[in-house]
Amino acid sequence: MERQYDVIVVGAGNGGLAAAANTAKAGCSTLLLEKHNLPGGCATSFRRGRFEFEPSLHELCSVGTEDRPNVVYKVFDDLGAKIDWCYEHDLFRTIVKGQDGYDITLKSGVDAFCDSMEEAVPGCYASVRAFLDLKPKIDAAIDYIYASKGNPNPVVMLVKHTDFMRTAGHSVEEVMTALGMPQKAQDLINTYWGYLGVPTDELNAMHFLNMLYGYVSDGAAMAHHRSHELSSALVDVIEKHGGEIRYNSEVTEFLYREDGSCCGVVANGEKLYAKEVISNVIPHNVFNMSDPKVIPEENLKLANAREFGISVATVYLGLDCTAEELGMNDYTVFIKGDSYPRDQYNNRLEDGLYIVNCLNKVVPDSSPEGTCTLFFTMPLFGCDMPRDLRPQDYKKFKNDLAKRYIEDAEKTLGISIVPHIEEISIATPVTFARYLGTPEGTIYGYKLSGWDSLMARTAGEKEDYAIPGLSFCGGHYIRGDGYSCAYIMGEMIGKRVAKRLKGGV
Ligand SMILES: Cc1cc2nc3c(=O)[nH]c(=O)nc-3n(C[C@H](O)[C@H](O)[C@H](O)COP(=O)(O)OP(=O)(O)OC[C@H]3O[C@@H](n4cnc5c(N)ncnc54)[C@H](O)[C@@H]3O)c2cc1C
Repeated sequence: MERQYDVIVVGAGNGGLAAAANTAKAGCSTLLLEKHNLPGGCATSFRRGRFEFEPSLHELCSVGTEDRPNVVYKVFDDLGAKIDWCYEHDLFRTIVKGQDGYDITLKSGVDAFCDSMEEAVPGCYASVRAFLDLKPKIDAAIDYIYASKGNPNPVVMLVKHTDFMRTAGHSVEEVMTALGMPQKAQDLINTYWGYLGVPTDELNAMHFLNMLYGYVSDGAAMAHHRSHELSSALVDVIEKHGGEIRYNSEVTEFLYREDGSCCGVVANGEKLYAKEVISNVIPHNVFNMSDPKVIPEENLKLANAREFGISVATVYLGLDCTAEELGMNDYTVFIKGDSYPRDQYNNRLEDGLYIVNCLNKVVPDSSPEGTCTLFFTMPLFGCDMPRDLRPQDYKKFKNDLAKRYIEDAEKTLGISIVPHIEEISIATPVTFARYLGTPEGTIYGYKLSGWDSLMARTAGEKEDYAIPGLSFCGGHYIRGDGYSCAYIMGEMIGKRVAKRLKGGV
């Protein structure tokens, strides 16, 4: 007889792992299916020579500490997963190249951040603080919207959440300008657009503030054993609570009952059934693996109307010298060709903005003694890859790209990198498309902007994909981008499904 699970989770990325850990812990029989031989999706590791590289995580926001736990700390702590958290005390260093450029380091901690902003741009203090002060007001409004299951009372919203209503529909730059923030201060803070892939004249203010506050208030965090530690900790929770994980198990089909509800999947040719299916896989792929007759037309239209989010090109370097010998004093450096985010975005193929990380500055023993690693990230869309690039020219394309950025960093930072390179690995949106299986190699699911902003998705959650028995979680879901959001959504969906299975609503 076929075994029926309570829950099947498809994909062991951050969202899928958090969802499966929560359903297993709640006592639901849980099967997690992952196409790779390792958990984590983006949150994994790979080896070259004597170096074990972190492929994706620069830093996590909204972690907090044991004394002041923030939401991500709680996701792990509530599951009984102990993580050895490390913290970065500077927020970031940002360099604008050229004659009118600047080189500024901002601090984390709300007071220290505002002070460092005031030092960089005299007179900006009050407007920066006013911007940060909006954060608790958003939280209260979003909590209310979630509690109302996406059906908030408009009068309550207007009366109790006035600041939220006044700002929620506006871009980052509109809100900052309304608060009287000088342009240079805006540009400095808005350096972070690079982490979200949407420039700040388009990006929703509340969405940006959520991430900004998560870095400013707690400092950026990193697990001592990097993202693989986070994924492994969630695997332990799933297994401890009797959940089953099958690796090398690519799902190729989603199964539906006659009434259109989802009842299982096919992996390695085997039909597997469950009362509920949670997909960590982007809806585009799920719908392509489903009988087109069962997907409601409005769901197909919604998926097709959404734009794919940004991807990245990355260069991972293992160097035969320490960070100190290299002269690398910072953990995160944003290097920009222009000061204005929209210009950086438009010039993304010509070094508009890129990020250099030296993990050893936060986790000194993250590479063998006497060595260090550098991690370059360039925001790019999958569609930015040259259309006429032939397979035989791909290697040269990657090498040229890496050379250009390494040389630029050497010049800008005044350090000598090339003679120290022992290992190098280069990834492009093509790599991420292949590894994660996402369309155009998107690492953030769908672009959060305009009609499809975080606010619109939160308010319209009820109207999102409405196939009974099928839920989504991960970077492609409501909160979009990044590790923190994927964990938070995984937890929320896992708990929601478990509650439903136990007779709640
Ligand atoms: C280079 C890089 C740098 C980044 N830096 C940061 C950062 O510093 N901070 C931050 O917060 N975020 C960062 N991110 C983004 C972050 O990694 C992602 O937003 C987040 O991990 C997405 O999680 P997810 O749950 O959507 O899963 P994903 O990581 O997309 O995982 C999905 C999983 O599903 C599996 N899968 C796919 N199809 C199938 C199938 N058919 N059957 C079975 N399994 C399947 C995949 O193998 C994968 O394991 C970065 C990403 C990259 C690539």
